[in-house]
Amino acid sequence: MALYSKLLLAIDFASQTETLCQHAASMAQVHGATLSLVHVVEPVVTDSAFDTLPPLPVDFDDLLVRQARKRLEELGQRYGIAEQNLFLEIGVTKREILRVAEQQGIELILVGSHGRHGVELLLGSTANAVLHHAKCDVLAIRLESE
Ligand code: AMP
Repeated sequence: MALYSKLLLAIDFASQTETLCQHAASMAQVHGATLSLVHVVEPVVTDSAFDTLPPLPVDFDDLLVRQARKRLEELGQRYGIAEQNLFLEIGVTKREILRVAEQQGIELILVGSHGRHGVELLLGSTANAVLHHAKCDVLAIRLESE
Protein backbone atom coordinates (compact mmCIF):
# COMPACT_ATOMS: atom_id res chain seq x y z
CA MET A 1 0.00 0.00 0.00
CA ALA A 2 1.33 3.43 -0.94
CA LEU A 3 1.74 5.70 2.05
CA TYR A 4 0.46 9.25 1.96
CA SER A 5 2.53 11.89 3.67
CA LYS A 6 0.13 14.85 3.46
CA LEU A 7 -3.60 14.57 4.13
CA LEU A 8 -6.22 17.31 3.93
CA LEU A 9 -9.60 16.96 5.62
CA ALA A 10 -12.37 19.28 4.42
CA ILE A 11 -14.90 20.05 7.12
CA ASP A 12 -18.16 21.97 6.92
CA PHE A 13 -18.95 21.88 10.69
CA ALA A 14 -22.46 20.81 9.72
CA SER A 15 -22.19 17.09 9.44
CA GLN A 16 -20.47 14.71 11.85
CA THR A 17 -17.30 16.71 12.30
CA GLU A 18 -15.97 14.40 15.03
CA THR A 19 -16.48 11.29 12.90
CA LEU A 20 -14.54 12.89 10.07
CA CYS A 21 -11.76 14.15 12.31
CA GLN A 22 -11.34 10.81 14.08
CA HIS A 23 -11.20 9.00 10.77
CA ALA A 24 -8.68 11.44 9.32
CA ALA A 25 -6.54 11.43 12.48
CA SER A 26 -6.40 7.61 12.44
CA MET A 27 -5.40 7.61 8.80
CA ALA A 28 -2.72 10.20 9.43
CA GLN A 29 -1.36 8.06 12.24
CA VAL A 30 -1.29 4.88 10.15
CA HIS A 31 0.43 6.66 7.29
CA GLY A 32 2.74 8.74 9.48
CA ALA A 33 1.28 11.71 7.61
CA THR A 34 0.71 15.36 8.35
CA LEU A 35 -2.98 16.18 8.66
CA SER A 36 -4.32 19.59 7.58
CA LEU A 37 -7.86 20.90 7.92
CA VAL A 38 -9.68 23.24 5.58
CA HIS A 39 -12.98 25.02 6.08
CA VAL A 40 -14.46 27.37 3.52
CA VAL A 41 -16.82 30.22 4.27
CA GLU A 42 -18.95 31.08 1.27
CA PRO A 43 -19.69 34.83 1.25
CA VAL A 44 -23.33 35.74 1.74
CA VAL A 45 -24.43 37.27 -1.55
CA THR A 46 -26.83 40.13 -1.08
CA ASP A 47 -28.49 41.90 -3.94
CA SER A 48 -30.58 44.93 -3.07
CA ALA A 49 -32.94 44.07 -5.93
CA PHE A 50 -34.00 40.98 -3.96
CA ASP A 51 -33.82 42.41 -0.45
CA THR A 52 -36.89 41.67 1.60
CA LEU A 53 -35.18 41.88 4.99
CA PRO A 54 -33.62 44.95 6.60
CA PRO A 55 -29.80 45.04 6.44
CA LEU A 56 -28.05 42.86 9.00
CA PRO A 57 -26.72 44.79 12.02
CA VAL A 58 -23.27 43.20 11.84
CA ASP A 59 -20.95 42.22 9.05
CA PHE A 60 -22.32 38.72 8.67
CA ASP A 61 -19.38 37.36 6.66
CA ASP A 62 -16.99 38.66 9.29
CA LEU A 63 -18.99 36.96 12.02
CA LEU A 64 -18.99 33.65 10.13
CA VAL A 65 -15.24 33.86 9.59
CA ARG A 66 -14.55 34.58 13.27
CA GLN A 67 -16.79 31.72 14.44
CA ALA A 68 -15.25 29.33 11.91
CA ARG A 69 -11.71 30.31 12.92
CA LYS A 70 -12.52 29.59 16.57
CA ARG A 71 -13.98 26.18 15.75
CA LEU A 72 -11.07 25.31 13.50
CA GLU A 73 -8.57 26.26 16.21
CA GLU A 74 -10.46 24.15 18.76
CA LEU A 75 -10.28 21.15 16.45
CA GLY A 76 -6.61 21.83 15.82
CA GLN A 77 -5.91 21.74 19.55
CA ARG A 78 -8.00 18.63 20.11
CA TYR A 79 -6.34 16.68 17.29
CA GLY A 80 -2.83 18.08 17.67
CA ILE A 81 -2.82 19.91 14.33
CA ALA A 82 -0.37 22.79 14.06
CA GLU A 83 -1.77 26.22 13.30
CA GLN A 84 0.01 26.42 9.94
CA ASN A 85 -1.97 23.36 8.87
CA LEU A 86 -5.37 24.93 9.57
CA PHE A 87 -6.82 26.64 6.50
CA LEU A 88 -9.77 28.97 6.71
CA GLU A 89 -10.68 30.17 3.25
CA ILE A 90 -13.35 32.43 1.81
CA GLY A 91 -14.84 31.67 -1.57
CA VAL A 92 -16.42 28.85 -3.52
CA THR A 93 -16.04 25.72 -1.40
CA LYS A 94 -14.95 23.15 -3.97
CA ARG A 95 -12.56 25.60 -5.64
CA GLU A 96 -10.92 26.58 -2.34
CA ILE A 97 -10.50 22.97 -1.20
CA LEU A 98 -8.80 22.11 -4.49
CA ARG A 99 -6.64 25.24 -4.40
CA VAL A 100 -5.38 24.57 -0.87
CA ALA A 101 -4.71 20.93 -1.78
CA GLU A 102 -2.60 21.91 -4.77
CA GLN A 103 -0.82 24.73 -2.99
CA GLN A 104 0.12 22.50 -0.07
CA GLY A 105 1.15 19.48 -2.14
CA ILE A 106 -1.57 17.35 -0.57
CA GLU A 107 -1.57 13.69 -1.61
CA LEU A 108 -4.98 12.67 -0.26
CA ILE A 109 -8.08 14.81 0.32
CA LEU A 110 -10.71 13.45 2.70
CA VAL A 111 -14.32 14.59 2.39
CA GLY A 112 -17.56 13.48 3.94
CA SER A 113 -20.16 11.94 1.68
CA HIS A 114 -23.84 11.44 2.30
CA GLY A 115 -23.97 8.92 -0.53
CA ARG A 116 -26.43 10.95 -2.52
CA HIS A 117 -27.54 9.67 -5.85
CA GLY A 118 -29.93 10.50 -8.67
CA VAL A 119 -30.87 14.15 -9.07
CA GLU A 120 -28.89 15.29 -6.05
CA LEU A 121 -25.75 13.77 -7.53
CA LEU A 122 -26.42 15.29 -10.95
CA LEU A 123 -26.78 18.69 -9.34
CA GLY A 124 -23.41 18.08 -7.76
CA SER A 125 -22.17 18.00 -4.21
CA THR A 126 -18.91 19.23 -2.76
CA ALA A 127 -17.62 15.68 -2.40
CA ASN A 128 -18.51 14.93 -5.99
CA ALA A 129 -16.86 18.08 -7.32
CA VAL A 130 -13.67 17.47 -5.35
CA LEU A 131 -13.56 13.85 -6.47
CA HIS A 132 -13.85 14.78 -10.13
CA HIS A 133 -11.48 17.73 -10.20
CA ALA A 134 -8.72 16.92 -7.70
CA LYS A 135 -5.25 16.24 -9.03
CA CYS A 136 -4.54 13.93 -6.09
CA ASP A 137 -6.37 10.99 -4.52
CA VAL A 138 -9.67 11.61 -2.74
CA LEU A 139 -11.27 9.55 -0.01
CA ALA A 140 -15.00 9.98 0.53
CA ILE A 141 -15.97 9.04 4.08
CA ARG A 142 -19.52 7.77 4.15
CA LEU A 143 -21.64 9.71 6.67
CA GLU A 144 -24.79 8.37 8.24
CA SER A 145 -27.94 10.19 7.12
CA GLU A 146 -29.14 12.55 9.82
P1 AMP B 1 -21.76 18.26 0.65
O1 AMP B 1 -21.61 17.36 -0.51
O2 AMP B 1 -21.78 19.69 0.24
O3 AMP B 1 -22.87 17.86 1.56
O4 AMP B 1 -20.44 18.14 1.55
C1 AMP B 1 -19.78 16.93 1.68
C2 AMP B 1 -18.41 17.19 2.26
O5 AMP B 1 -17.76 18.26 1.56
C3 AMP B 1 -18.37 17.61 3.72
O6 AMP B 1 -18.49 16.50 4.60
C4 AMP B 1 -16.99 18.23 3.77
O7 AMP B 1 -15.98 17.22 3.74
C5 AMP B 1 -16.94 19.00 2.45
N1 AMP B 1 -17.46 20.37 2.61
C6 AMP B 1 -18.71 20.82 2.36
N2 AMP B 1 -18.82 22.12 2.65
C7 AMP B 1 -17.59 22.52 3.08
C8 AMP B 1 -17.04 23.76 3.54
N3 AMP B 1 -17.78 24.87 3.60
N4 AMP B 1 -15.75 23.79 3.89
C9 AMP B 1 -14.98 22.67 3.83
N5 AMP B 1 -15.45 21.48 3.42
C10 AMP B 1 -16.72 21.39 3.06
